[in-house]
Amino acid sequence: MLYTSTRDKSIRVTSSEAITRGISAEGGLFVPEQIPSLSKEDIERLSKLDYRGRAKEVLSLYLTDFTKEEIDSCVDGAYADGKFSSSETAPLVALSDGTQILELWRGPTCAFKDMALQLLPYLLTVSAGKTANGKQIVILVATSGDTGKAALEGFKDVPNTKIMVFYPSDGVSPMQKLQMATQEGGNVAVCAIEGNFDDAQSGVKKIFTDPAVAAKLAEKNMMFSSANSINWGRLVPQVVYYVSAYCDLIAKGVVRNGDSINVTVPTGNFGNILAAYYAKMMGVPIKTLICASNKNKVLTDFIETGVYDRRRDFYCTSSPSMDILISSNLERLLFLMSGMDDVKTAGWMKELSENGVYDIGSEMLGKIKALFCGGYCDEEETKSLIAEVFSRDNYLCDTHTAVGVKVYNNYKEATGDATPTVVASTASPYKFSKSVLEAVSPDENLNDEFDMVERLHEITGFECPEQLLSLRSKSVRFRECCKRDEMEEAMLKIML
Ligand SMILES: *Cc1c(COP(=O)(O)O)cnc(C)c1O
Repeated sequence: MLYTSTRDKSIRVTSSEAITRGISAEGGLFVPEQIPSLSKEDIERLSKLDYRGRAKEVLSLYLTDFTKEEIDSCVDGAYADGKFSSSETAPLVALSDGTQILELWRGPTCAFKDMALQLLPYLLTVSAGKTANGKQIVILVATSGDTGKAALEGFKDVPNTKIMVFYPSDGVSPMQKLQMATQEGGNVAVCAIEGNFDDAQSGVKKIFTDPAVAAKLAEKNMMFSSANSINWGRLVPQVVYYVSAYCDLIAKGVVRNGDSINVTVPTGNFGNILAAYYAKMMGVPIKTLICASNKNKVLTDFIETGVYDRRRDFYCTSSPSMDILISSNLERLLFLMSGMDDVKTAGWMKELSENGVYDIGSEMLGKIKALFCGGYCDEEETKSLIAEVFSRDNYLCDTHTAVGVKVYNNYKEATGDATPTVVASTASPYKFSKSVLEAVSPDENLNDEFDMVERLHEITGFECPEQLLSLRSKSVRFRECCKRDEMEEAMLKIML
């Protein structure tokens, strides 16, 4: 299987090249030329395997230039016993109304990013071995909070790699900031920027595609790669957990093999929901993909009108990992939905960068509406949802998951659709203790982050990850903050 670029279909590379490069030279994203399929019998067989077994099978369909041994060792390393706090890796928990919560946050950094970023360093090391001629890989990351920490943890002390993370100084939760600022490892760097996530992402993309910077790296026998979800190596591990969730629903008797499900994903960059769409195209019987946004509802509006318009106010919300106005993975959906039309896709992306808006027209919109449903919820609704689910089910959602559950509840009410539904749960509630505590116990008066964590645990009894508690005694290593236009300089100074 080969990979092509969303902006230039004449480009054809192996999966190793797509993963090593991260982004195509002209700015497009790599996508597989064909979608592999899973038959009903395949799914039956996968439902009898554990998470690692399922991951190996799904990955082998996409990473066809990896040997079986390479895939096995990547998967066994990434999801080794003890790395995730659940033996199922990504367990399903049913709420009393039947909603299936897919807990994707049981990895080392307590957000769903671990599902992919524990695996990516292994995939990248194998890929670079095949294609990078011994060059050192420099990973640049823009983060809205969780990717940064998960990438740092995944790449920490991985030989022949260096990693630098940029995060918006006022756009992450105190716990997210502390997780990054205390990161250990000899090959890591962290820098805040004065700006929001979109600024960080645009800055990183600009550095990536600047030939002068690439030349400077080449002189030192280094090359860039990306750990953001623009990298195919981030997306393919995410496809696995949707396949796995369907298998678990069969194993639990919630559905029979072949029955339809819906999937709801709280998303900002459109990465996680795109992975669900790939699972659907492969043959997992997903009927509707429900795209949940917070107050930054650019995706809700897009799915409603076909107009993607980022020219709007940016809000800092209690679900900061979804505070995004440029959803970079939407590019892959547009490419697929337009029948792999690279010229059209490149045109829309050009309009977005030049005018901040594009319109896909009614035909494309119709195709998207047949599969996707968009919705959003505001800050008050997010809080009430957390309180409601906790009082009813004794289950604690983080703020992002709450957006997903709320939007799903609204969908169910509006449509009457009773199809069994999986909601992606994307973070541990303790990563956003302040907001979650405010929701379940509005009259607390605490200021210290860890006091809030402890209080939340006291009130709810909900399991609190040790890795978050242990941050209290770690020392801060990274305090740098740079301006938007200083990112390149900061990167060159630290990484070269
Ligand atoms: C990253 C993140 C999201 C959004 O994921 P997308 O890649 O934008 O789909 C949602 N919730 C949490 C907790 C996250 O860390």
